[in-house]
Amino acid sequence: MKTVSTLFDLRTARLSFNGTVGLVPTMGYLHEGHLSLIRQAKAECEHVFVSIFVNPTQFGANEDLSKYPRDLERDLSLIEPLGVDVVWNPTPEIMYPAGYQTWVEVDALTHPLEGAIRAGHFKGVTTVVAKLFNAVQPHKAYFGQKDAQQAAVIRQMVRDLNFPLEVVVCPIIREADGLAMSSRNKYLEGADRAAAVVLSRALNAAKKEYEGGERSAEALRRKMKEVIEAEPRAQLQYVSCADYDSLEELEVVKGKTLLSMAVILGKTRLIDNFVLG
Ligand code: AMP
Repeated sequence: MKTVSTLFDLRTARLSFNGTVGLVPTMGYLHEGHLSLIRQAKAECEHVFVSIFVNPTQFGANEDLSKYPRDLERDLSLIEPLGVDVVWNPTPEIMYPAGYQTWVEVDALTHPLEGAIRAGHFKGVTTVVAKLFNAVQPHKAYFGQKDAQQAAVIRQMVRDLNFPLEVVVCPIIREADGLAMSSRNKYLEGADRAAAVVLSRALNAAKKEYEGGERSAEALRRKMKEVIEAEPRAQLQYVSCADYDSLEELEVVKGKTLLSMAVILGKTRLIDNFVLG
């Protein structure tokens, strides 16, 4: 396994491979969710690249960029046994040299949900992902359903800008109690960690109603809200029952539907989702 930092070293490593290349973009502090993407890439591609880069441009001014957990040694030791070919760990100066001024923005899909709360977040995500795609030139790129809107936005960008690659979206990996794995779970302390199960509990409650025949999107949103609000430590930011492709809020559930939510527990902001239909 090769670890590279500069664009020159990355391009040199890339040119040595002729077969199919899979890319797994991450911000590091890896967990089983990331590793599942790497395993899937490994199963489908001849060569696997993993990027580790805490992308400053996707963090808002009041977000946790400087406190975002980092542990490169640990990440490399988790990746090594999986048969990854190249780990790319650029610095912010490599990705955004002085005078940087080019941005990639997806329009309507970035307006609701996370986009409505985290201004500028998706502009940072699409810009860095476009740069990763251009540098690595993968045949396939792997993302988690955990960040459902991010996956939708990247699919849209790939379509709109004719990136010659396939976006593969992998299922959410959860802890035993149902909490979706996330690098940010590290911040959850004691009672907040226990209370964090409320997100998957709310999604399951709505799913149960749906399976019982409920098709009113408002009823499903109300159910999720009710479960979250019953947990005194949880502060609800949004619940959504939206069309899977357009992310527009629904009145009546039909076809593929995304149930999603953002909840704050202590100082930690958590998101989770479930796909119906
Ligand atoms: P991050 O390092 O948080 O930017 O995540 C890197 C990639 O891993 C993104 O495509 C995420 O959607 C994905 N990911 C994060 N958590 C999970 C999880 N619990 N299950 C599956 N994929 C995940």
